[in-house]
Amino acid sequence: MSKDFDVIVIGSGGAGLSAAISASEHGADVVILEAEPSIGGSTIRSAGVLVAAGTSVQHSLGVADSPREMYQHYMDLNQWKVLPGPVWNFCHESGPMFEWMLEMGLEVPAQHSTNAHMPGLTRGGVENNKRCHVPKGQGKGLVEVLDKRRQELGIPVRLNSRVTDLIIEDNRVHGVKLGKESIRAGAVIVASGGFARNQDLIRKYFPDALDAGTSFFAVAADGSRGDHLKFAEKHDLKVFGENWGLLLLTARFQRFHHWVSGFPPASRIYVDAQGLRCMDEDSTYAVNQGQWKAVGKTVWAVFDERARLNLPTDVEDWQPERILEEVDKGVVLKAGSLEELAGKIGVPRENLKSSVDRWNHMLPNGIDDDFRRHDTLQAKGAKLKLDAIEQGPFYAVQIVPGELVCTHTGLQINSTAQVVNSSGSLVDGLFAAGEAAGGILGERYVGAGNSVTNGLVLGKIAGTQAALSQNEPMSQVLI
Ligand SMILES: Cc1cc2nc3c(=O)[nH]c(=O)nc-3n(C[C@H](O)[C@H](O)[C@H](O)COP(=O)(O)OP(=O)(O)OC[C@H]3O[C@@H](n4cnc5c(N)ncnc54)[C@H](O)[C@@H]3O)c2cc1C
Repeated sequence: MSKDFDVIVIGSGGAGLSAAISASEHGADVVILEAEPSIGGSTIRSAGVLVAAGTSVQHSLGVADSPREMYQHYMDLNQWKVLPGPVWNFCHESGPMFEWMLEMGLEVPAQHSTNAHMPGLTRGGVENNKRCHVPKGQGKGLVEVLDKRRQELGIPVRLNSRVTDLIIEDNRVHGVKLGKESIRAGAVIVASGGFARNQDLIRKYFPDALDAGTSFFAVAADGSRGDHLKFAEKHDLKVFGENWGLLLLTARFQRFHHWVSGFPPASRIYVDAQGLRCMDEDSTYAVNQGQWKAVGKTVWAVFDERARLNLPTDVEDWQPERILEEVDKGVVLKAGSLEELAGKIGVPRENLKSSVDRWNHMLPNGIDDDFRRHDTLQAKGAKLKLDAIEQGPFYAVQIVPGELVCTHTGLQINSTAQVVNSSGSLVDGLFAAGEAAGGILGERYVGAGNSVTNGLVLGKIAGTQAALSQNEPMSQVLI
């Protein structure tokens, strides 16, 4: 059958660019089809952090690590509910992918970093080693590096070109459709990102994301419309990872990612529906969505007037005046005393009082025997002085998993990124990578860098496989 290209890549985020570059480097004639007017997807909006084990940067800093160690921890944290085959390659190919990116021009200085915005090596969540690599230029810089390589290889990108369907006959892919137009190819790589911008698909595949009600907002790119799930429904492809994704805890009134939104006051306490302190207020987003669920889905942040006045004024949400505006709207509750505040949020007065007393006894003295928040702050390198919660008026606002960053429900793949149909057979020539692929990103987001690395590693594998499959039977080209 005639074909227009060897390989079609759907989407120009990290997964798509990586896939296209690796396919081209393996001799394939490739085109990228991008739905939006510009490239980059969610990847360009991200911090660009990459998780990788056994890298030259780790080596330079004397950090001993191995893909095996990464694999064991990743699988354990996800309670082995993710797919071992793809996760094995995610871990074992993370280092080679990272070095490949350095060769392309990505800059990650060999220095220790304390957070996802300072270039270098850091710990980005609950991973058991320092393996989060923060690049210069963050997601934008990362996409620029990939795009420069794309241009060197002469890979065309067609913008404003949303793929509407796959052409699959007899369990083999033959190309894609864009409305009435058909483009034929020997292999297709679905790298169309997630579905954070599609409310219907969220309702169906990620209902937990609706827990925040009207406080829900998505920060993923506009193109995150979940077309991969439509392809799955139409062509009977297997979907993996339902009801999983990365939701960040936010106050009811927040509407922006924390870079813009700002952070809640450090001297605050999180209490549950009984008014009892229920979690480390600074626990990482890798696990705090699960903690929120575990304590019964009702969590109030309580802070005092000193904490409000100490907030910065140059952010959008967590700033002193905004808190008062939200008091006027009834979203933040304000009271002259803790007893009155307890009444307003509907918790036993003595419980809230004892929770605050215990905080005042421990945290301003640098110790949190109950939730060990001081360890969390120390691990982040944060040198915060925590104050007692004692100066009225007092404030309370509900904490919800309001911010949707990425979704984890995708086309089930095998270890080499090939898509599986609902009867368990591999579809010839069809690959998926990034958020569009299911099997690697689980219920727990182990730490910053998981999703970008997932896209780049599986994109690289998919591109290699797609290119080589043009000439050789698949069984001979597995990595
Ligand atoms: C603010 C923010 C910060 C983040 N920080 C990090 C971080 O530091 N580290 C980390 O690991 N993760 C981070 N993430 C998550 C991570 O960026 C994404 O999950 C990951 O980059 C997704 O890559 P992708 O290639 O699968 O999808 P995307 O980068 O979203 O690319 C998919 C592309 O496909 C296009 N597309 C969609 N449908 C079609 C179609 N039908 N036809 C053609 N094109 C289509 C889209 O327009 C888009 O350009 C962050 C996310 C956000 C929003």
